[in-house]
Amino acid sequence: MLNKKSVDDINVKGKRVLCRCDFNVPLKEGKITDENRLVAALPTIKKLVADGGRVILCSHLGKPKGEPKPELSLAPVAVRLSQLLGQEVKFAADPEVVGANAKAAVEAMKDGEVILLENTRYRAEETKNGEAFSKELASLCDVFVNDAFGTAHRAHCSNVGVAQLAETAAVGYLMQKEIDFLGNAVNNPERPFVAILGGAKVADKLNVISNLLEKCDTLIIGGGMAYTFLKAKGYEVGTSLVDDEKIGYCKEMMEKAEKLGKQLLLPVDTTIAAAFPSPIDAEIEVQVVPSNQIPADKMGLDIGTKTAELYANAVKSAKTVVWNGPMGVFENPILAKGTIAVAKSLAETDATTIIGGGDSAAAVNQLGFGDKMTHISTGGGASLEFLEGKDLPGVVAANDK
Ligand code: AMP
Repeated sequence: MLNKKSVDDINVKGKRVLCRCDFNVPLKEGKITDENRLVAALPTIKKLVADGGRVILCSHLGKPKGEPKPELSLAPVAVRLSQLLGQEVKFAADPEVVGANAKAAVEAMKDGEVILLENTRYRAEETKNGEAFSKELASLCDVFVNDAFGTAHRAHCSNVGVAQLAETAAVGYLMQKEIDFLGNAVNNPERPFVAILGGAKVADKLNVISNLLEKCDTLIIGGGMAYTFLKAKGYEVGTSLVDDEKIGYCKEMMEKAEKLGKQLLLPVDTTIAAAFPSPIDAEIEVQVVPSNQIPADKMGLDIGTKTAELYANAVKSAKTVVWNGPMGVFENPILAKGTIAVAKSLAETDATTIIGGGDSAAAVNQLGFGDKMTHISTGGGASLEFLEGKDLPGVVAANDK
């Protein structure tokens, strides 16, 4: 369990509580297209409201790169959040985030009211953890609560700088839940523990592969990163995505698996095409071949049918499954079959199933399997760094219990 002060350990009655949430939601023409992160933030906000706090919410949205960008304003979030929460979330429009308008809005608050500040990344200091902006944020509040798991792997003003300056810094329910689920799965799993890694590049997941190999019983590799492993085995992989510099690393991981007595599963067959689809969802002609028979002029873009079965069987016998990264170019329906098969096997098992954020979370939700998973993380980068075994600065900065 996380040994940090939580919203259950603090008294916020009549106090100004700055609550850092992760409202970094996808927007299309001003409309929120996936509101999971808003829904996930509700328990903490409701708790702070019920306890009589004056709740000041803040978050970043996208990458405005340190200046006000109207298309990245949090205004639409305030509107939707009001509906979800069932009470007004007043938007404190302010190009400086903590400028005159925001200060006046906080000043006018009554107990149990909620306001939302403007996108914290309107300020250039935010991502540099600059002291001045951290101080401004801290001056708005008596208590700081960090519930933004999605940015916990970054040390920014609105999650780390302000936490160090605030008198009290606690974590919210979402942060607690994320760390508890991911932490238990990795460090105290019910076995067999199967970890599934996919996605584009081996280089992006070096430490995750190594750390999970130590913790799990079976490590499954799919997606673009599988081809560097296959090449390391001496296979011809054609024009598939390969990170030549990491071939040695893949060999090392295969040896490590053997030494530790862990199962490392690689695709036994692969779905190939003449080239990467362009546009990504273009109609494409594919063929499934054994992984050691990829023609020199073909590209592997998804796991094959036998591999999907093999991976599904490994999931069937598992008691804990952690999954991060798609098995193929899932954005294309023809190349999404491997990812769908794995998602389905997770949906059907009674095992504890944890989905790292990012693409695998999006895939599981899009396929309608979201409610079949034990936990879907709201943070892609943060969950990956956690799976690497790293401390997350946003969590470390909160007060110990
Ligand atoms: P990541 O951000 O590392 O989780 O990678 C996700 C991306 O990997 C998705 O956009 C997929 O389209 C891509 N991907 C998965 N499999 C392959 C593959 N075999 N070749 C190229 N890209 C892939």
